[in-house]
Amino acid sequence: MSRAAGDRADWDVVVVGAGPNGLAAAVTLARAGLSVRVYERADQAGGGAATRALTLPGYRHDVCSAVHPMAFESRFFREFGLRSRVPFVTPDLSFGHPLDGGRAALAYRDLARTRDELGRDGAAYERLVGPLAAQATAVAEFTGSSLLGIPADPPTAIRFGVRALEQGTAAWRARFREEGAPAMLTGVAAHTILPQPSIAAAGAGLALTAYAHAQGWPIPVGGSQAIVDAMVADLREHGGEVVLDHEVRSLRELPAARATLLDVTPRAFLRLAGEAMPTGYRHALEGFRYGGGVAKIDFALSDPVPWAHPELRRAGTVHVGGTRAEVADAENAVNAGRLPERPYVLVSQPSLFDPGRAPDGRHTLWAYTHVPAGSVADRREAVIAQIERFAPGFRDTILATCSRTALDVERHNPNYPGGDIAAGAPTMWQIIRRPVLTPDPWRTPLAGVYLAGASAVPGPGVHGLAGWFAARSALRHEFGTRVLPDLSPKETSR
Ligand SMILES: Cc1cc2nc3c(=O)[nH]c(=O)nc-3n(C[C@H](O)[C@H](O)[C@H](O)COP(=O)(O)OP(=O)(O)OC[C@H]3O[C@@H](n4cnc5c(N)ncnc54)[C@H](O)[C@@H]3O)c2cc1C
Repeated sequence: MSRAAGDRADWDVVVVGAGPNGLAAAVTLARAGLSVRVYERADQAGGGAATRALTLPGYRHDVCSAVHPMAFESRFFREFGLRSRVPFVTPDLSFGHPLDGGRAALAYRDLARTRDELGRDGAAYERLVGPLAAQATAVAEFTGSSLLGIPADPPTAIRFGVRALEQGTAAWRARFREEGAPAMLTGVAAHTILPQPSIAAAGAGLALTAYAHAQGWPIPVGGSQAIVDAMVADLREHGGEVVLDHEVRSLRELPAARATLLDVTPRAFLRLAGEAMPTGYRHALEGFRYGGGVAKIDFALSDPVPWAHPELRRAGTVHVGGTRAEVADAENAVNAGRLPERPYVLVSQPSLFDPGRAPDGRHTLWAYTHVPAGSVADRREAVIAQIERFAPGFRDTILATCSRTALDVERHNPNYPGGDIAAGAPTMWQIIRRPVLTPDPWRTPLAGVYLAGASAVPGPGVHGLAGWFAARSALRHEFGTRVLPDLSPKETSR
């Protein structure tokens, strides 16, 4: 860090927020030869991709994101060469879904094995997911860009849309005869915190399921922080700097810059801009809706989770909540403002694949559940009871917990209002209009100011795409170039 946080030096670019999107913007613009300074309110860079000690000494926990199919499929991270910069472990079993009686539905990277183990519904599952998995990159391209544009691969977009329509409506009942496959699909669609069934949830779920059978659901060695650290290192190598412990409270306090990129929500942007915000745009941002929240529990464990179905002990991610109907009921309760008695819980045990996360033989467990926005309920007991239901003896492995309510999640990072980790409900309408209905939703009416966070297209996830798109727009409008800088580690020309 070469200059103090408060000085008024001129920068080509100022970025507010060092989450994956803010850093993607910063890296892209620094690679274009511009001087870049990033302000971050926390004491470490990373936002939703930070890793910290939360429980006992020697245990490293992913504070927010832990599993990274979107990073592997992201065009920004492909160009950045993420996989050659950060070691990942990709479990053979992408995700599992326990059912009562020691049963489980299992999504292997190997689609044929998944089909075979799903029994009577195997072929129907393969027909639904197979064509998308075979075109996972095109699916990522389509879902990872503005839906107002013309898709690069229209047949894949149509296949995707037809399937989302089926799995996102009452038609979802027609395809399957047993419990496993539908539970598995709803377990992924439920990541969105949307009502079940709904087309937007089904779309997100199908994309993630396609990735599960393509490149898999990888876990970074060292935690999600490793992804962010690689971005910060690249930024610094190219002359950029990150100022930590510096919360920006008004755009007026920022040093003069030709472009300002904001890794914040529309709500925060309204506050930062104050009177400077034009009325029409202000109304549009005020109409942006935030969704349900999450309550997060991190565990230090003496042993791996004793899942009743032994194969789940090899799963990168486990969706806990029972049948499709049970998961849908739990999610619909949250969307109606209630706390479900038997909640849907996302679980990952990174230490199974990355032993460095915990002392020898010990384990970390990452879990979160959905709650109404702004809930102050401590969901520790409800989460433990649901895991125990499918892993008897789990309670006895717990050495320590760190439980955060939805309000704690917001206090930790204002980009998650009320604990909304999507930074804005990813409904169909809010995926098309994110946060406003224009082909360049990153550019704002304030001169040189861009929205670069997950509240902008294409929405939540560690993919860096919102930041990358915002940087591309800034390059074009503020610096007069459509040429994209090379982002690869060796800076070889593409
Ligand atoms: C519990 C949880 C689990 C998740 N699991 C996954 C997962 O497994 N896989 C996945 O892909 N995604 C996951 N996500 C979502 C993912 O973390 C986010 O979508 C992603 O981090 C968004 O990136 P971003 O850069 O837009 O925002 P953030 O990562 O939220 O970063 C924003 C940054 O801006 C800073 N900031 C905000 N306002 C200011 C200000 N005024 N001044 C200075 N700094 C400011 C914040 O401190 C923060 O560091 C999860 C999120 C949570 C919370």
